[in-house]
Amino acid sequence: MSRVVVVGAGTFGASLAWWLARRGREVVLVDQFEPGDPRASSGGESRLIRCSHGPYSVYSQTSRRARTLWRELEAESGEDLMVECGVAWFAHSEDGWEAESERTLAAQGIPSQRLEPSEAARLFPSFDGGDLAFVLLEPEAGVLRAQRAVRALASQAVAHGARLVRGRAGPEDGAAVLESGERLEGDAVVWACGGWLGGLFADRVALRTTRQELLFLDGGPAWRTPGVPAWVDYDRAMYGTGDLDGLGVKAALDTEGPPLDPDAELPAAGATEAQVREYCAQRFPALARAPLREGRCCRYELSPDSHFIAAPHPELERTWLVGAGSGHGFKHGPAIAELVAAALDGGEPLPAQFALGERTRGRSLRTAGS
Ligand SMILES: Cc1cc2nc3c(=O)[nH]c(=O)nc-3n(C[C@H](O)[C@H](O)[C@H](O)COP(=O)(O)OP(=O)(O)OC[C@H]3O[C@@H](n4cnc5c(N)ncnc54)[C@H](O)[C@@H]3O)c2cc1C
Repeated sequence: MSRVVVVGAGTFGASLAWWLARRGREVVLVDQFEPGDPRASSGGESRLIRCSHGPYSVYSQTSRRARTLWRELEAESGEDLMVECGVAWFAHSEDGWEAESERTLAAQGIPSQRLEPSEAARLFPSFDGGDLAFVLLEPEAGVLRAQRAVRALASQAVAHGARLVRGRAGPEDGAAVLESGERLEGDAVVWACGGWLGGLFADRVALRTTRQELLFLDGGPAWRTPGVPAWVDYDRAMYGTGDLDGLGVKAALDTEGPPLDPDAELPAAGATEAQVREYCAQRFPALARAPLREGRCCRYELSPDSHFIAAPHPELERTWLVGAGSGHGFKHGPAIAELVAAALDGGEPLPAQFALGERTRGRSLRTAGS
């Protein structure tokens, strides 16, 4: 493929534009907003990067590969995008998600350590692991500065020759047509439109867009990251980070929120505060009375089985669809771009679970919250 139009400059689209442009392809990257806009799923300040995905080894591989590619982006852009503070997984049983992850990581040579809950207490300024079977620490996992990373991807794509176009596009006869009437054609047009993908290709893509909240607590200097790892309680659908860049200690309830249209304004946060506070008071007692510094709303774009979409459209010529990050897509962006770029060139087929078609609701790749 010598000329590719990519619609959507979130983690998936901007990564693909960067990947293709640095290999000398002619790329047009289109977005209705500036890259990193908070209305896009990739527009949050931070996103976890971790390789534990239970038994789903494809995602462990792409996450690990993405770690290398994020480092390459840092080297190119001069930006500090990835904080390798570790991610601690709170396991409630000996044979759950964490034990499955541990086996998958070991098979791929990805470091992890199993800690007694009492040993894990050294990771946090205050910790109660009395209800846990063990803690799985991924020492090379951590947090990505997501919004800055997306901006770096788009600007590095431009530095390699891509054209960045601001505008809203729709599909028409294998091309992307902007509201201004400009028609963008390529050997391939890749639609990486986040929560908007379902509306653009309603006959092929079943996506739910939901309202999610992030809360930031003022824990004081002891909770600074790096220093404090990120954490996930898969079975209780909670996750968070230490205080990165002075934003506060991030904590979020990861159950599926109410529907929220991609074009609807992001409402004020606060609905999950009681549950998040109750969890933090039990798990991290020193945070029990920490002031709430801020709450943010954002949107998930969820496929029924939480697997991504990356596939050619079966009927529309030159048209490819990529997305359905399902609350865990950010970290994988550059690695999925590498796979999609190879598939565009007729190389390796994309993983079967990314295909279009019927999906049945299954175990969540995010937490057990849906
Ligand atoms: C609260 C929250 C926490 C999360 N936590 C994590 C985490 O810890 N780790 C992780 O890996 N992932 C996480 N995720 C998931 C991850 O952020 C998303 O899966 C990912 O960012 C989706 O990227 P995307 O490129 O598909 O979509 P987006 O980032 O939404 O980008 C799509 C882009 O397409 C543009 N667009 C859409 N339609 C059009 C059109 N017609 N014309 C022009 N432009 C268009 C939009 O403006 C947008 O910029 C989280 C998500 C949320 C909301």
